[in-house]
Order: sequence, then C-alpha cells, then structure tokens
Amino acid sequence: MPHNEDALFKALMDTAVDGIVVIDTGGIVQICSDACEGLFGYRRDEIVGRNVKMLMPEPHRGEHDGYISSYLKTGEKRIGGCELAGRRKDGSTFPMHLSVGKSEVGGERIFVGVIRDLAPLKAEVARHVDVDSLMAQIVQSSEDAILSKTLSGIITSWNASAERIFGYTADEALGANISMLIPPDRMAEEGSIIGQICAGRDVEHFETVRRHKNGNDIHVSITISPLRDGAGDIVGASKIVRDVSERKRSELRMQALQSEFAHINRLSSMGQMSTAIAHELNQPLTAIANYVKAARRILERVEPANMERARNAMDKAAAQVLRAGAIIRNLRDFVEKRKSNRAPENLNMVVEEAIALGLVGTAHQGVRVCLRLELKLPSVLIDKVQIQQVLINLIRNGLEAMQAVDMRELIIETAIDNKDFARVTVHDSGPGLSEAVSKRLFQPFVTTKEKGMGIGLTICQSILEAHGGNIVALPDHRPGAAFRFCVPFVGQREAA
Ligand code: ADP
Repeated sequence: MPHNEDALFKALMDTAVDGIVVIDTGGIVQICSDACEGLFGYRRDEIVGRNVKMLMPEPHRGEHDGYISSYLKTGEKRIGGCELAGRRKDGSTFPMHLSVGKSEVGGERIFVGVIRDLAPLKAEVARHVDVDSLMAQIVQSSEDAILSKTLSGIITSWNASAERIFGYTADEALGANISMLIPPDRMAEEGSIIGQICAGRDVEHFETVRRHKNGNDIHVSITISPLRDGAGDIVGASKIVRDVSERKRSELRMQALQSEFAHINRLSSMGQMSTAIAHELNQPLTAIANYVKAARRILERVEPANMERARNAMDKAAAQVLRAGAIIRNLRDFVEKRKSNRAPENLNMVVEEAIALGLVGTAHQGVRVCLRLELKLPSVLIDKVQIQQVLINLIRNGLEAMQAVDMRELIIETAIDNKDFARVTVHDSGPGLSEAVSKRLFQPFVTTKEKGMGIGLTICQSILEAHGGNIVALPDHRPGAAFRFCVPFVGQREAA
C-alpha cells in the first residue's frame, strides 16, 4: 500500500467516476478530476486556474459569487446537495447533481464540489414516460373495450373498442353514467359488483348482457378491478369488456343443431321400434274391443245380475283405453322435438321406464334382464326424456350386440358415484367393443352396423355433457361391453 498522499490523491482525481472540482474562496478552480473533461468538454488544464462560473449556465453563473460571500459571512451553506444545470464548452447544458463540502488547506478555506451527470437518469425517466404513453396506445388499440368509472358510476375513460362495441363516442360516454350500458333487468348486478369492488375484490370473466346505443343487447364477458388513488383508497373500477355475442350465437346454433340431431336420432330409433310398438298397442286395443263386445252381449239380456258384469267389462275397457293412451303419450314425449327441461327425478324410476320402452318387442330374444338398483339414491337433476334416450340407446346397442351370442344377459345398475353424482351402468354379455371402434368411440358416424348411423353414442355424450355429467365405456368389463354414465344429484352446483 503506497503512502505517498500526492500519488493517492492523483489516483483519485484520475479515476473518480464523478466530476470533482476544488475551488478557493474566490471561486477559482484549484484542481479538478479527469471525469470533468467528459462532463464539460474542457481539458483539465483549461479549467484549473479559472473561475468555476465557466462551468455554469445562467442564472447559476450570476448567483455564484453571492453564494460564496453569503457563506463566508454566515457559515450557512446555500448549496448542499441539489440538482442544477452544468454548462459544456460548446455552450450546451446538462442536468447535474452537485454536492458541496468545505475544508481548509494551509489556513485557506476551500470548497469541494462533486458533480454527477443526471442526463442518463433523466433519459431513463423519459423512457418510463414513454412506457406510459405506450400503455395508453395499447389500451386504445385493444380489441376489448377498456373503460373506467367512479364508484358512483360516472365513466372516466373510454377506449376505441368501447366506442365500437357500445356505439357511443368518447365524447358521449365520458361523464355519462355507466347505467346507460345496462339493460333495466340487469341493473341489480351493478350493485353487487360495486359491493365486491369496494371490498377490494376483482370480478373476473363474468358473462352478462349489456346494451348498445342502438338498443340491441350484446353478450359480453367482463373483468372488473378496483382502481385506487395514491393513498390506496378505492375510488372507482376499471372494466375490460369482451364482446362474446358471436360465440353465444354459435353456441345457440350448436344447441339447435344438437337438438335437431337428437330429434332425428329419436325418430330413427322410433322407426326401428315401430313394429314392436304397433304390437304393444294392439294388445290393449284388442282387449278393449273384446270387453266392449262382451258388455254388449250382456246388455242384450238385461237382468240385475248381468248389469254388474256389464259394468265390470266396461271398467276394464276404460282401463285399457287409458293404457293405450299412456303408451301413445309416452311415445309422443319421446319423439317430440323439445327444449331441454331439467327437473328433480327419481333415477331408479327413470331407468325402469326406459327399460320397459327399450325392451319393447324383445320378449322372444331370450334376454335375461338383471336390475341392481341403489335404493338410497337421492334425486337427480335431469331432463328425463333425454336421459331415457341415453338409456334406450345403450339398451338397444346391447340387445343388438347380443344377437351374436347365445347367453344374453343385460345388467343395469344404479349407484352413488360420489357426493355429487349418481351413476348408471349398462352391461351386456355380447361380443364386446371391436378394437377399431373402441379407439373412436363417441365420434360421430363410427358404426359397424350395416344400417347404423353411428351417432347414438355421440348424442348420448352430448346429452350427458350438457347435464354436467359424462359417459365412458368400461374397458375391463369382460365379457361383453359396459357403458357407465353419471348425472348430477339435485343441489350440486351446475357445471359451467
Ligand atoms: P350405431 O348403433 O348407429 O352404430 P352408436 O354410436 O350407437 O351408433 O354405436 C357406434 C358403434 O359402437 C356401433 O356400431 C358398435 O360397433 C359399437 N357399439 C356400441 N355399443 C356396443 C355394444 N354394447 N357392444 C358392442 N359394440 C357396441
């Protein structure tokens, strides 16, 4: 470690990153660091021996002598650490930070100024300001409407997409109340949103309807966040609004298509069952004819005892009429094109009715049907006709598959799957799913049947998905094939 102070001082002056300028009480520069050359554009020897004012632009230049003399009189340092401007040799100026210290050398007072160039820092800040304007541009060019409002609902910002989605220009919207965008029947929503915002919570991807200037309703997805002032208090809310009308329209188109599809499928399974149905209806109708004929014969011999027999025959005829009517009503419900209509149902009863319909006309096929019902099953929330359609599809598929085998057994089971879902399993003793079909099960138009359409399982799947449930083929259920589907219990939160 060298102890030569002059050498150490020289090293400091040559290498200090900041500019260091030492002046006497007359303001004359005694020495300056190498960095001053870079800061001011003078060589060191052009600075030393001259008044430091050369490094200052006006008004600092004119004020400098005053600072020194006032300090010498009062001892009060007017310039401590402060931000002011420096002047370069070419006359240009730059922002600098100056800190001044004082000392004494050989009884003479001196002042030491340390100068830091603030230009790089200022440029950084300027870049930051640019980021703000960049943000403003992003907001303006966003595909989503971005707007803000006060807690009382006054609109305080409005970007170009807000104008496009809602039809109001920024001039019309700014200062207006947000309620002009809300259909009257949705007004209550706004109160609950403001409640959440005031509690400091975000409201995310909330789907609702808003109103365009032309009065049309628009389906939107909205994300709302609290806006805070400098003190952190919530003063309003920002809203990002996405127009989802097109998506809603295609969802509705899909639903319509799905119900159309399901309708066609029901008609087609009805077609397949029609012979059996005619047979089923024939039974009560023949019985009616017989009872009426018998009653007529009895009435020809009117005696008090015969009156009782005739009344009996007529009652039986009436009961058969009701039965025939019920069969027709069931069929009409099943075939009819209708909207999904979910209600609490007893799943075991739904299954039993579906089996009765699904087995129509199969008495001669020698199929043993084994029903395993969970008796403690809570009610399920389903569209009965749709779920019966699923069951009938599975039952008819099982029956068709079992035509290829001698031992024909259909096992239908209900059970509690978990706290939210009941499950139904339909298991047949047929040859099972072929490998090719297994891989593409539930895809439309996959069929191994000559007259098959290959849409039955696809429709089953879409019905169950619409219920928030699912359907799978159980891979390790041998022999035969087994399908299992789940439907929600009443009270389970509806799947989104
Ligand atoms: P389709 O019955 O019109 O063919 P599905 O979508 O109902 O249409 O069935 C698709 C295919 O899945 C059937 O063609 C058949 O190959 C197979 N499949 C469905 N259920 C069974 C089953 N229980 N046993 C064997 N194969 C089945």
